[in-house]
Amino acid sequence: MNDIILLKQGEIILKGLNRREFENKLIDNIKRRLGELGKFNIYALQSTIYAEPLEELDMEAALQAAKTVFGAFSVMRAAGCEKDKEKIVETVINYLGDEINAAKTFKVESKRADKQFPMSSIELSQYVGGEIHNKFPHLKPDMHNPELLINVEIRELAAYVHGPATRGAGGLPVGSGGRMVTLLSGGIDSPVASYMIAKRGVQLIPIHFYSFPYTSVKAKEKVITLAKELTRYCGKLKIELVPFTKISEEIREKCPEGLITVIMRRFMMRIAERLARDNGCTALVTGDNLGQVASQTAEALAVSEQCVNIPVFRPLIAFDKRDIVDMAREIGTFETSILPFEDCCTVFTPKRPKTKPKLDEVEVAEMNLDIETLVEEALTQRERIDCK
Ligand code: ATP
Ligand code: MG
Repeated sequence: MNDIILLKQGEIILKGLNRREFENKLIDNIKRRLGELGKFNIYALQSTIYAEPLEELDMEAALQAAKTVFGAFSVMRAAGCEKDKEKIVETVINYLGDEINAAKTFKVESKRADKQFPMSSIELSQYVGGEIHNKFPHLKPDMHNPELLINVEIRELAAYVHGPATRGAGGLPVGSGGRMVTLLSGGIDSPVASYMIAKRGVQLIPIHFYSFPYTSVKAKEKVITLAKELTRYCGKLKIELVPFTKISEEIREKCPEGLITVIMRRFMMRIAERLARDNGCTALVTGDNLGQVASQTAEALAVSEQCVNIPVFRPLIAFDKRDIVDMAREIGTFETSILPFEDCCTVFTPKRPKTKPKLDEVEVAEMNLDIETLVEEALTQRERIDCK
């Protein structure tokens, strides 16, 4: 049977003159994602993308993969057939037989993109509905609240039959919104923040700061695993791993204890900004969440970014922790995030961090540090790892 996958475009259809560009990005991303599972012919007609398998492959896996591609509003498997009313009925029965047997009520909905087709959408729905009802008398038509919705689409090349559409990943195709650097710790929040920004079409460069030997090799591996988990949605990622031990030690030695965390944050921001500039990125992304810890009060967040000149996006700023946890579970990063390896910030966290640091006191404290050299050293010692 000509089983194919259909992906309906979401917001892209509102893009006016830029639409083609968005669509091409979406097609590229679908090709890349489905290409991992086998050979497909992938093309767009009207606002739908068609993925036709060119060999025997696991279509259920392909459907699941298609659901992770940002830019598709809904995703479904469908059976193609000749644009002929009898063939269509035959295909409905073959393809949706199990669903038909299980349901008590149904409705047929038709769409006719090909206006040459000799029946109107309503006529076609009535015809197919009538035939199905004749062959399966247990199934009653219900126009308002049917248990089974049978969709028939008459398109350029063929007719397609499918059951209800399932939810796609939504958002915009990765790559259509430029690039940003995302600060990825090993926690629950930053992978979710990264996911949300990628969903708006942004290609991410994750950066992670580690404090070996205060933090273990396992902590570093955990973040690489998180980045790999994000590639399901974001495509290939190259994570930048930056040594942060020397900076943290210098801060601990030379700055007031209550300011350690916010000064560490400012170094992360500076280094991330440098990386962003070198890679044509437009902003930084963090998993900060208002009031969650001492370093995330409005005052601390303000001071932590008042050393860079690039926008800092914090998509989780107003989320409740449980909502963040739900999202982490949904996108599949939660189990890795809760592995018990410490983050560099936790290791150096003072007993009483200042919750309302002032910019001038922080700047005075930083006068004891050779900021430029520390940043430069960390950057030259960084390593880069491909995550697939
Ligand atoms: P997360 O769950 O993302 O670790 P958190 O609640 O533990 O968040 P913090 O540790 O205060 O929060 O960090 C706030 C944000 O700063 C993180 O979401 C992340 O974007 C960034 N960050 C913190 N530590 C690191 C690190 N070691 N490497 C990269 N980014 C970091
Ligand atoms: Mg953390």
